[in-house]
Amino acid sequence: LTEIDRCHWLHPVVALQQHERRGATIWDSADGIHLTDVNGHRVQDAFSGLWCVNVGYGQQSVIEAAQAQMRKLPYATGYFHFASEPAIRLAGRLVSHAPKGLTRVLFGQGGSDAVDTAIRCVRYFFNATGRPDKKHFIGLQRGYHGSSAAGSGLTALPLFHRYFDVPSPQQHHIPSPNPYRHADGPDDAAVLASTVRALESKVAELGADNVAAFICEPIQGSGGVIIPPKGFLAAMRKTCDTLGILLIVDEVITGFGRTGPMFACAAEGVRPDVLTLAKGLTAGYAPMSATLISEELYQGIAEGGCDGTAFGHGQTYGGHPVSAAIANAVLDLYTDGGLLTNGERVGQHFEAKLKELEELPCVGEVRIRGMLAAVELVADKKTKAKPDATLRMGQRVLEHAFENGLVFRAFNDDILGFAPSLNYTEADIDVLVDRVRASISHVFS
Ligand code: PMP
Repeated sequence: LTEIDRCHWLHPVVALQQHERRGATIWDSADGIHLTDVNGHRVQDAFSGLWCVNVGYGQQSVIEAAQAQMRKLPYATGYFHFASEPAIRLAGRLVSHAPKGLTRVLFGQGGSDAVDTAIRCVRYFFNATGRPDKKHFIGLQRGYHGSSAAGSGLTALPLFHRYFDVPSPQQHHIPSPNPYRHADGPDDAAVLASTVRALESKVAELGADNVAAFICEPIQGSGGVIIPPKGFLAAMRKTCDTLGILLIVDEVITGFGRTGPMFACAAEGVRPDVLTLAKGLTAGYAPMSATLISEELYQGIAEGGCDGTAFGHGQTYGGHPVSAAIANAVLDLYTDGGLLTNGERVGQHFEAKLKELEELPCVGEVRIRGMLAAVELVADKKTKAKPDATLRMGQRVLEHAFENGLVFRAFNDDILGFAPSLNYTEADIDVLVDRVRASISHVFS
């Protein structure tokens, strides 16, 4: 098969367009932190696949756990009164790492359905407890919460809204807490205060009795790695409590050591009512998500009876035993295997080294927490003017870096995003940053 034939079968429209633009990359194999395509071109992965392969490729313990589970019990439904040992064990372990009070786990396949599950749990809860009008959801501009029919409306990227009548009349967005581009300047307290005010006034406009929940990522990933001011989650928790609405924290990207600790919300001492997890849960070795809900929500759903009907929710592959066995092996790597500790240590080196790029005239800001980072490119450092979009600077940096052995992502052509796996060494970080610097310098020269 030629490359174009393969793409045709894979994904006719998108892949072919990509192929015509710059040639599709068809991956063939992976090891450690490297990917190799079908033409034998080997690159260092600076994005953990799609922010998910947090443990790196080829981890033997994960592969063996999957093989053993496939032999023993390849499938068991998580529906009805059935379960499997690896899924039960995993649920207990997730609860033990999550903020205290998140006691119930609903498993799914990926981040999008985790967000759908969160929405459905919240709606069930309010219906079951006699508050059916509480059905409005508020998210942040630049937020990403998946591409499912419900979640795509909470996602604030217009590309995901076209033709699907989302955001629905019950889905709203308030400005993102983005210190670098905030109108009042990069003053943390001012940015935080304006986000709190925006949430308060949106709830006042809709009526608190009609608002179910506020949803946010601890750090906005797909929106361009926007790091909010310190204390953001705590401020949102407090505001939601005051307003009488629930807090959903979407840690699909930030979970599992991406920002340092296992979960960002737990590290910041914030207990959401619902926590969505995916990606690093199985580190890309299998599809899986988990939605953790509070005991209060669970009791409301279970005992409220939802007009006497059961909670009609779940999927064939929810709690899949092979995915669960993989997730258990991946969790072992984070904890006993030392990957969380390694990520935190190497993350400090990453921060010091990547920050040096701020000396380049075309770099407006370097944002980084742990192993999650972005470099924002500008045409003018003082005015923070964005580079001319028609010049596709981000794509060109990406393309140059790819040719020179490094893969990562660009957002809107002005933000370069990085999410190296937690098994990176300091020397691997040096290669990453040196190649990024060389590619930026080449493209902006
Ligand atoms: N929530 C967040 C914060 C995400 O970053 C993503 C994916 N990038 C999703 C939800 C959706 O996850 P998935 O692509 O696995 O459906």
